[in-house]
Amino acid sequence: MLFKTRPTSETVRAALQGIVDPDMISAIQITPERGAIVTLEIDPASGEKFEPLRQQVEQAVARVKGVTKALVVLTAERAMNAGPAPSQKTARLDVPGVRHIIAVASGKGGVGKSTVAANLAVALSKLGQRVGLLDADIYGPSVPRLMGIPDAKPEQAAKHLIPPQAHGLKVMSMGFLVDEATPMIWRGPMIQSALQQLLRDVDWSGLDILVIDMPPGTGDAQLTLAQKVSLAGAVVVSTPQDIALIDARKGLEMFRKVAVPVLGIVENMSYYCCPECGHRADIFGHGGARAEAEKLHTPFLGEIPLHATIREVSDAGSPVALRGAEDHQARAFYEIAEKVLAGLETASRPAPKITIES
Ligand code: ADP
Repeated sequence: MLFKTRPTSETVRAALQGIVDPDMISAIQITPERGAIVTLEIDPASGEKFEPLRQQVEQAVARVKGVTKALVVLTAERAMNAGPAPSQKTARLDVPGVRHIIAVASGKGGVGKSTVAANLAVALSKLGQRVGLLDADIYGPSVPRLMGIPDAKPEQAAKHLIPPQAHGLKVMSMGFLVDEATPMIWRGPMIQSALQQLLRDVDWSGLDILVIDMPPGTGDAQLTLAQKVSLAGAVVVSTPQDIALIDARKGLEMFRKVAVPVLGIVENMSYYCCPECGHRADIFGHGGARAEAEKLHTPFLGEIPLHATIREVSDAGSPVALRGAEDHQARAFYEIAEKVLAGLETASRPAPKITIES
């Protein structure tokens, strides 16, 4: 029988002696698949300077006996705890080979953000775009399951991780690297660092659109993400209830603060559609998001019914949008996708030159 050495945080720590100052190591986690995740504490002011060290440490961790995958993330947690400065101007991270990056966000969890992100990505792809889907919802990565590839693993190439493909899309999620059952305590700066690496270290080349399923909420971590990534636009998902709309408003404000164009609001679980008779019931007082969008001068992208089919096919790994634009439950996602494409076009067009003839 093949004996597999299981790495421990001690063996990893020992291997890093002489490579990195032990004080900089703030966490070492070993996943059930023997992946090793090392967190290094750095000074945020000189984050870029530490990239070569990060790579060096990653290579050293990869060489530790028994380690199947190495991931080294940089965090500025101690400095951040001393006082975040989210409005600080930082260089935005561009992803080579990707034309537009869009974020799908929500003011709180459970509103269907991941469902919308996955179906929007599929609809955009069916409309002829080359699409990638990045699951940045590190607290509960659901994209692998939604896209029907819960056990996929990215392939390690010379310089990049090659993202798994599903339904014609390139898909990447922290869920591929970390076991779903592993309790992970992600603090703000760790999330930012992990996400930056999922953008930078994954081969996303050749995409028209990369859809990012953001972590839910509007805390500092989300704000910094929105600020650090070169986003072409954002989609905010809300349910019709007032309380969710208040959260959605926070989502809009977050993107406005960092000058990312809001492509619009989606109202999910907008009305109930009886699977038996097709009867439509506005159980949550549907229409709240449309009214709110108007008030806030933000485009309204569409309403998605609360329908058992949407959940069932999501659970089965084939998003409803795969059924095509003619399908009753999928149609709303195509309408949203068309509006997103139009919004991207407007957002990327240079402002018209005004000439005044004398
Ligand atoms: P979030 O990403 O905001 O936490 P999810 O997309 O994971 O939310 O959705 C939460 C749950 O609600 C999932 O079980 C999902 O299948 C279900 N769901 C989302 N949108 C709908 C919908 N329109 N109709 C029926 N079920 C939905």
